[in-house]
Amino acid sequence: MESVDFLVVGAGPAGATAAREAARAGLQTVVLEKDAVVGAKRVCAAGLRPGFCETFDLPRSIIHCETPRLALFDPAGTEYELHVGPASTSTREELDGTIAALAAHEGAEIRTQSLFRSAEPDGRRTVVEYADQRSGERRTIAARSVFMANGATSLAKARWNDGLMTTLQYRVYLDRPAAEIAYRTLELHYYPGADGRQVVAWMFPKRDHLAIGLGLLGKLAGDRLREELDAFTARVRARLYPHAEVTKTKEEGHLLYGGWPGSGLERGLLVGGTAAGLVDATNGEGIFEAAMSGRFAAAAVAGERENPARAAARYARDLAQRFAKRLRHRVELMRFCERNPARYGVLFAQLAGNRRFTEVLQKEDHERSPSDRWCLYSQAFRFALRALRA
Ligand SMILES: Cc1cc2nc3c(=O)[nH]c(=O)nc-3n(C[C@H](O)[C@H](O)[C@H](O)COP(=O)(O)OP(=O)(O)OC[C@H]3O[C@@H](n4cnc5c(N)ncnc54)[C@H](O)[C@@H]3O)c2cc1C
Repeated sequence: MESVDFLVVGAGPAGATAAREAARAGLQTVVLEKDAVVGAKRVCAAGLRPGFCETFDLPRSIIHCETPRLALFDPAGTEYELHVGPASTSTREELDGTIAALAAHEGAEIRTQSLFRSAEPDGRRTVVEYADQRSGERRTIAARSVFMANGATSLAKARWNDGLMTTLQYRVYLDRPAAEIAYRTLELHYYPGADGRQVVAWMFPKRDHLAIGLGLLGKLAGDRLREELDAFTARVRARLYPHAEVTKTKEEGHLLYGGWPGSGLERGLLVGGTAAGLVDATNGEGIFEAAMSGRFAAAAVAGERENPARAAARYARDLAQRFAKRLRHRVELMRFCERNPARYGVLFAQLAGNRRFTEVLQKEDHERSPSDRWCLYSQAFRFALRALRA
């Protein structure tokens, strides 16, 4: 049977980053990706946090727009302006395609049209079965370590009542540019939808289109989701492109996760990115978390080559230290605001009025100084008092 050091399932930001960094560290690495073209089918607003390209050593040519403004809209439609970054936007075709090409350049083998089926422990190895969709054959491959980075669909069975969100997005192409401010801004809107469920909606600008989309917790029929998105798009249009003609609209839907983070281990396998629940529940950001989990997986497997069990334990520890606290807090914050949506306005006003609070919130726990923590706890206390009165 074919045998490799490191097998990765999925060539999204988690899997492709893991493959790139593992191959660079000298591990024989194979990636199984079900799609024919990496990234081509990913549905995403592809907003990237400040410094993303530098952190992951990616060319800035993938950046579409620099967005120093974050505009948060509360349920009443009031806009709060925050200055961050600058953050940026891309598309997943470019982002995932670029990371995968760099992984291949380091020596990883990316097998497209390879659909993962199962993974079974076999002594000190794991045997993975997959369908080679080109030849129609089933194949097996053994690996010392396996990294599952197969995204939100892997959660679909277990998490429908526990954080999975249905999303729909339009790529809106215009006959002339929208208002100039649109191309400098990431917009996030929080409001109750037609059936009372919390909606998180966005407008993220791209070079040649605007990505306008929304998500809500749980399942919603396609026509109801479309009605909700049409109503939101009409509001965006009135503000940002009232006089432009829409030349084309591309519709795309996918699952997004907004629940509790997992441990990163399942039956001895390393799990990363959205498959491990690593998404910020307040804004849907998961690309950074995914890529960072891929980096941790590669470092753990390369650092503990002869001992997969130790590599798995090291990976889970790194993941917990880096992300668990912040991501759990984000779920709690989101649920707290959802119980009384007036709380969003209280939070956004406080963030807009206090730049330091915004900056400290963006940091991981381990990056915070004692004075950052003081700022965070005093602002959190202030928010809780005001929010409970709202
Ligand atoms: C509508 C929407 C908007 C979003 N906007 C943003 C945003 O602006 N910024 C942000 O940071 N995050 C955003 N996210 C979240 C972000 O998309 C995810 O957090 C991120 O894609 C997670 O990366 P990943 O590598 O874990 O998984 P994915 O990117 O989902 O990649 C999984 C890969 O595994 C492959 N795969 C799946 N099953 C199999 C299988 N059985 N066999 C082989 N391959 C398989 C898939 O084809 C895919 O290539 C958004 C998500 C959605 C749905």
